[in-house]
This record gives sequence, C-alpha cells and structure tokens, in this order.
Amino acid sequence: MNVCARLILPEGRIMKTKAAVLYEYGKPLVIDEVELVSPKEKEVLVKYGAAGLCHTDLSVLKGAWTTPPLPCVPGHEGAGLVQEVGPGVTKVKPGDRVLLMWVPICGRCFYCLRGQPYLCAEKDKTRGGTMLDGTHRLRKGALNIHSMLGVGSFSEYNVVSEQSILPIAPDIPFDIAAVAGCGVMTGVGAVINKAKVKPGSTVAVMGVGGVGLNVIQGAVLANATKILAIDLLENKLQMAKLFGATHVINASREDPLSKVMEVTNGIGADYAFEVIGKAETTLTAYKLIRRGGYLVVVGLPNLEAKLTLPLFEIPLMEKSILGCYYGSGDSRVDLITLLELYKTGRIRLDQLITHRYRLEEINTGFKDLETGKNIRGVVIYS
Ligand SMILES: [Zn+2]
Ligand SMILES: [Zn+2]
Repeated sequence: MNVCARLILPEGRIMKTKAAVLYEYGKPLVIDEVELVSPKEKEVLVKYGAAGLCHTDLSVLKGAWTTPPLPCVPGHEGAGLVQEVGPGVTKVKPGDRVLLMWVPICGRCFYCLRGQPYLCAEKDKTRGGTMLDGTHRLRKGALNIHSMLGVGSFSEYNVVSEQSILPIAPDIPFDIAAVAGCGVMTGVGAVINKAKVKPGSTVAVMGVGGVGLNVIQGAVLANATKILAIDLLENKLQMAKLFGATHVINASREDPLSKVMEVTNGIGADYAFEVIGKAETTLTAYKLIRRGGYLVVVGLPNLEAKLTLPLFEIPLMEKSILGCYYGSGDSRVDLITLLELYKTGRIRLDQLITHRYRLEEINTGFKDLETGKNIRGVVIYS
C-alpha cells in the first residue's frame, strides 16, 4: 500500500512521506520514510511536484552552511499542489498550485514595512529549520527532522507556512515554478532590483550556473549591450551565449581581467556580478569594474570566507560593493512578473533545466551539480 496516498487528515494526525534526509554532513542523503504532522494554524500541506537542486543545498550537504541543524530535509526550491490547509489559511485552498518562496514574508516587521520583504525578520525562524512557531512537522520516531528554510522540498509531502507559498497559474509546470522560486528570482532580481542596470551598460558575470544565467537574462531584459560571461566550464559558457552573453571568457584559459579590459577599451565593466561565492572570484570581479562601477555579490560563500580589498579604491575610484539576497525584491510580485515574462518568451526557463531525477537519484543529481554536468537539475515527483 502506498502510505503517501492517505491525504485527508484530521487535525493533528500523522501521515507518512518519502523524503531525502541529511543525517550527517558530507554523507549522501538517505531516502527514508518519515512522519509528517498535518498543518496547524496558517499552515499548508503541499504535495511537491518538483524540487530544484541548488548550490545552497550542496553547501548544506557538505556542512559549509550549517543551517538548518541535523537531521534535516534540504530543498528550498519547490512547487506543488495544496492538499490540505490548516485553520486560518486564506491564501489557498486544496487543489491550488503553488511555488515556494524561501523567505516567508510577514508584511509587518521592520524590514517588510520598509519595502525590503526579502530581509523579513521571519526568515531567522525558518533558517533554524522549524516552522514559524519553532516546532517541527517532520519526524522519525522520537527524532525531530528540520526542514530547510521552511520549504524542505526533498520530501514528497511537507507542511509549510502560508507565508512561504505563492499561488501560480495552472499552465506553469512545477519544475519551471520550482527553479523560478530561487535562481531566477535571485539572478534577474540582482540586475533589476539591486543593481538597477541602465540600458547600454557593460555587465560582467562571474560564474554562469543556474543563478548566473539568470543574471545574464536579467541583463538582457535591462538592455545591457555588452554582457560578458566568465566561467571555467565550456558547456556553461555555451549556455551563457544562448541566454544572451555577447562575450564568453573561459577563465581556465584566459585572464578575465585583461579580457574585460580589452572589450571595454581599458575602462572596465559598469557592473560585475559575483555568483560563485568565493573570495578569490569576488576580488577578481571587484577588479573588473570601472571607476564608479558596481560589484554585486550574489554567490553565497562558506562561513569562514574573508575578503581583502585595496581599501583606497573604494572612495578614490568610487567603486561600490552591493550585497544581494533573494533578488532584493518582493518575491510575491516579482515571481508573478517573471512567470509572465517566461510565458511571453522574454526569459528562458525551459533551457535552464538540463536534468531531471527521481527522488531516489538525488545523490547523482548533486554529483552532477558539483561537476558542472547539469545547469539546473530538478527532482520530479510522480
Ligand atoms: Zn536555490
Ligand atoms: Zn516581515
């Protein structure tokens, strides 16, 4: 009998679900059957249709980014079908299609009221891998299992806060919605919301994986005229061309700094985006920008990474460094816009997804991500 098929649960009942659980850093995910408590107030039971495999998950798997605590179900990119709603839920009803946002926007906190919902104070709660009330819905016997960023999409079923979900149109496939919820929002948002790239600009993108390609398509949307993609892998650079890069630089063969200077007549880029999360590449990206230029740091470094910069250049050359978290926008609005742009052919999302896996193949998916074989891999649930 398929235990996952028991869908309608009375308040407080427990169902079983299949999940990929991280019990130990640096070890493969374990495909396990775990228990899931039905949704409480303002919570929603979702049956995931798809879950994206992202570098941030990989950092969690390795212990390089130690939130949430173990054991946990990673996965912060997901989309699926609402199965059941807890008391007080008004945003959705059973049968609605939703995508997951990994910042649960409250609309009331210091940051939300200042127009920065991507920094919502509630995210500090879900960073700890619990529900907003500090408790867990997933468990294995007596052991509580954390859920990454309030999403935990490597579980076929999961309970999430109403604040973390966004209803989507019936014609948006789950895999497209799942990747839109992280890499697309982050990459395009970094260009449009944070850097506010002006038409005619030169944009350099350091690292053109799942997020970097979206920085490129954001730069295309912003009418940048020179878009330089920098990476070590030829397959990613070829993809960057497809997404709108005007120049590609293979940093394993060419020096990115001299190449950018050559393309910009010795001036440098107006904007550089670092989408890898390493001090070394951030420093190179900083050197690429011109006087008065902007470096936008998008890549998530490990907790120990430190950056040393020639400080005098910051005032003397008026170089600016901007941080960007989750596309620096209001994902409730921006994601709807991005999906409209996808439907009207203005941004490419189909081509982002190069590999699809079953949940049982998830460790292979992460190996493919690490070796650069996939641009974006997604788990497809049946
Ligand atoms: Zn992600
Ligand atoms: Zn808030």
